[in-house]
Amino acid sequence: MDLTSLSSRLPLSTALSDRLAVARDLWPRGSLSFATGQLPSLPAAVVFPEEEAQLQELMFWAAEHGVPLIPYGAGSGVCGAAAGRPDAITVDLKRFRHIGPIDVENATVRVQAGVIGQHLEDWLEQRGWATRHSPSSIWCSTVGGWAASRSAGQFSSKYGKFEDMVAAMRVVSPSGSFGTGAWAEGEDFGPWMLGTEGALGIITELSVRIVPLPQHRWLRGYRFADVPSAWEAMRTLLQAELHPAVLRLYDPVDTRLAGKDTVHHKEGSRFWKDLRHRASELLPQQALALPLSLPRLLNRLADSMASGCVLIAGWEGPLESTSILSVHGHRIIQEKGGVDLGPEPGEHWYGARHEVSYKLAPIFIGGGFADTMEVACLWKDLPLLYARVRQAIGRHAVVMAHFSHAYREGCSIYFTFAGVGDLAIYDALWKDALDAADSVGATVAHHHGVGQLKQQAAGRELAGLAPLYQQIKKRLDPSGIMNPGRIFPPVPLPPVTLSGPAVDPISLVANLLPDQPADQRDGWLADQGFALRFPAAGPLREHLSGPQAPWETRILGCVARLPHGRFRIKSVPRSAAGPDLRSLLPPSSYEQIVVPLVRLGGDRWEGEVPENTLRKLDIRASCRHADGRVEIIGPAAPELGDLIGKQK
Ligand SMILES: Cc1cc2nc3c(=O)[nH]c(=O)nc-3n(C[C@H](O)[C@H](O)[C@H](O)COP(=O)(O)OP(=O)(O)OC[C@H]3O[C@@H](n4cnc5c(N)ncnc54)[C@H](O)[C@@H]3O)c2cc1C
Repeated sequence: MDLTSLSSRLPLSTALSDRLAVARDLWPRGSLSFATGQLPSLPAAVVFPEEEAQLQELMFWAAEHGVPLIPYGAGSGVCGAAAGRPDAITVDLKRFRHIGPIDVENATVRVQAGVIGQHLEDWLEQRGWATRHSPSSIWCSTVGGWAASRSAGQFSSKYGKFEDMVAAMRVVSPSGSFGTGAWAEGEDFGPWMLGTEGALGIITELSVRIVPLPQHRWLRGYRFADVPSAWEAMRTLLQAELHPAVLRLYDPVDTRLAGKDTVHHKEGSRFWKDLRHRASELLPQQALALPLSLPRLLNRLADSMASGCVLIAGWEGPLESTSILSVHGHRIIQEKGGVDLGPEPGEHWYGARHEVSYKLAPIFIGGGFADTMEVACLWKDLPLLYARVRQAIGRHAVVMAHFSHAYREGCSIYFTFAGVGDLAIYDALWKDALDAADSVGATVAHHHGVGQLKQQAAGRELAGLAPLYQQIKKRLDPSGIMNPGRIFPPVPLPPVTLSGPAVDPISLVANLLPDQPADQRDGWLADQGFALRFPAAGPLREHLSGPQAPWETRILGCVARLPHGRFRIKSVPRSAAGPDLRSLLPPSSYEQIVVPLVRLGGDRWEGEVPENTLRKLDIRASCRHADGRVEIIGPAAPELGDLIGKQK
């Protein structure tokens, strides 16, 4: 590769140390190979562009010479999305590092894509603001990487995933540069850019929604007898629209292992010792190797020693609204069987919330691997998803789980597991686990993206969208140089059968026909005690397109038909298995849609409230009507309404 003409146009390095530094991300399979002595594929060179014009020149040059470009944020991805190739140039984006200004009126901040997450939060904090996007990797991931892989942070139940926070982006593609969202002129490619992992272009700058630094934080731990009763509490909180900022449930093994509650706090660190002791009574010589080499036995032992689980719940924001929401939340959790453990478990977690994931290296050094898997589904499917994936992983590795991203309609599960450091075991585990998630109708990625790891599984999940992607790819990247092979491998469309209208009262969603007349549809829902969350005057098909408020999920899933065939988009609250195109399909293509509901009855408050009053009080409207009225529902609605009244 002749780099002479390129090196005069932008900073470029062919030094081994620079190429090695960006050769791979933190995909545990890569770490496992590295630990066994295999060097990753190195890129031919690394470039460090500082401005869009340099990136554009680079892309024109790369297209002309047929050289692949691999965007690289901070390389904290865990699926092998940013991987070096000897025929490629890796584009390190960390020199896109400017932050500001803040737009106070619209509550957004401009930030360049290469800024490390913690630097953004520190900069905002000094000015009294925050994004509150708080992935565990906030110290080692970039804002552009968050957008490209649809990241989720620890406060996602209140503030949404990062894709919910992006108001606009600047993108450079091989066909030219453009704005998205609020910066779009003409066609908006925004939804395509969120989740396509650099395969369509490079995000250079973003406008990110921000919130005033929360004045008040309320955190508490609760002990539950079992996981299903804690799920019930979480679901009730979300569906009561109480918007907790933190909701983290640890399954019994995770609770016991990490000592999450005060009851077991001191004992937690002794867990492995106890486990080894019990195991060594059975197989003395194997005592040290047991945690990794006999996963089924260890999982059984862990189950037998673990009992009960811990939920951490928290609210934050202005004192008045936080107090109202947390009082109702505290009551509901206790009514559902949660035993109050006081603030300590929550405060303890909060203080260490970015530390836990960095402690895994000794497992690789010791000849094992550790990894995580994040999946999500509707509440109705959660028990089956938990059981099946846990069983699938448990055949190969020691496994535990927590639940830390909950939505009105569903929840994600985060499995953590450790096994023997053998690539064949690693690959078999992931195949079984992804198949298990798929079999339940879950998304195979909630926030880690796709990369190489989930390419086939995510490809199957979004198979119906692949032809649309190919069209966009041809327009934005006609030479196919951007992160080749990352998203949408060719996958045959699985057959889809249509089913009749149905209400899922647990997940609070309904599967509906888009052309059903409004009175018939609404009457049928009302007979069962429900109404549409987003009321529509006519058939739903007429209300599907158009701008969508951030954080709102008007369509949870669908069956659609386009010229290439009929396909299903799974009903999940949030995913990271590629871009979210649910509300971008042509309205005529929908054959069935799954939409959110509300329960009839219960407390509600309605009135006209300026947006900035809601923002100041940090109150989220349940629904905004076309005539400007705002509706708040749930047990806290009357008190929140009073609070709004006092502002007038
Ligand atoms: C210890 C640890 C904890 C983690 N915890 C979380 C967590 O809590 N939540 C979570 O969501 N994730 C988590 N992750 C995963 C990871 O941090 C996220 O996927 C993150 O979004 C990746 O950001 P990055 O800047 O490191 O991107 P990279 O890994 O460098 O890249 C990710 C993908 O995005 C592309 N890309 C990067 N920048 C751009 C850009 N500007 N334009 C276009 N494409 C781009 C790359 O080509 C690649 O395909 C964790 C990872 C680790 C190692």
